Amino acid sequence: MPGRGRKPPAEVAGAKHAANTSIRRALLAWYSSNARTHPWRGTTDPYAVWVSEIMLQQTQIATVTPYYQRFLNAFPTVSHLAEAPLERVLELWSGLGYYRRARHLHQAAQAVAQMPGAKFPEDYAGLRALAGIGDYTSRAMLSIAFNQPYAVLDGNVARVVARLYSLRGNLHQSQFRRTVEKELAALLSHREPGNFNQAMMELGQTVCLPRGPRCSTCPLARWCGGYRGGNPEDFPLARPRRAAETHHLAVALIRRGTTVAMVQGLEEGLLDDLWNFPSALGVTPSEALESLKQKVHRLTRGSFTIGSPFGKFRHTITYRSIQGEVYPIETARPICHTSLKWFELGVLPQAAISKLARKIVQKIS
Ligand code: SF4
Repeated sequence: MPGRGRKPPAEVAGAKHAANTSIRRALLAWYSSNARTHPWRGTTDPYAVWVSEIMLQQTQIATVTPYYQRFLNAFPTVSHLAEAPLERVLELWSGLGYYRRARHLHQAAQAVAQMPGAKFPEDYAGLRALAGIGDYTSRAMLSIAFNQPYAVLDGNVARVVARLYSLRGNLHQSQFRRTVEKELAALLSHREPGNFNQAMMELGQTVCLPRGPRCSTCPLARWCGGYRGGNPEDFPLARPRRAAETHHLAVALIRRGTTVAMVQGLEEGLLDDLWNFPSALGVTPSEALESLKQKVHRLTRGSFTIGSPFGKFRHTITYRSIQGEVYPIETARPICHTSLKWFELGVLPQAAISKLARKIVQKIS
């Protein structure tokens, strides 16, 4: 029996349902007049939605925009992408990072090109079966391209939901994630799921900021628990950060006339789809140099001299903070090793080289 003054559960559920209806309407109205223009906005072409979603994973919108336009100009349909050589796809991806995404994109395009009419599957299981398409991308594609009621949860959306309903925890706690997913599913617009998902992301990116949320301009402020409690930044809890690890990288500059020698990959499975200068990682500079000498010894079959280091640089790959130096290598006789590829220095910026290699090219040019 409900206590005096306390609303019965059905009434509470009804009030929440009504509030969600109002929140949804306010959000969609705000989005229709405040959405930023991006080249992928407004399209429901599954191919274009897919490319944008893959590019936007772990990469800023401003960085993605020119890449997206170049990519779609070069490969306007999934069949064009499927028929392109992987090397060309990697060239157009060069500088975006996380290159496995490009390799998967190419692989999945080849699978879709074999499907009837070269059309993407329109169901969750069919999309998930394609290379590089996980839960998030499937949901984004199903809602935006196929207007199916799937909610998309990323860090921005989770922050809005956590503040709106005053939910404590961080997204890496499964119980908290389930709670956020449940609230989000109840809020989702079944009529406009694609716009709803994009509106939630847009609100998280432009208004409900991690620090200093702009509550005074927020369309959801009147329903927001965090705002009404005066402590929106308390939701969600910050994720414990993984400490950055410092690594040292010794890089070999092997010249032959106007060309330089490159190898595929870096070390320890890093950047393995891209061309890099022969390099070695170490915990200390001398350890990195020793491993580089062994590597160059294998490449040159023993006859080389190593000069003084120059061109110090810093670079970050995920949680690795890399400090590097470039070592000029002289060889007694011409070297010709199957794992080496010679690039003209002038064309290197257009080749499928890593961001790290690009940084080194700037140092040595
Ligand atoms: S009112 Fe403030 S905290 Fe709440 S959703 Fe809007 S911006 Fe975020």
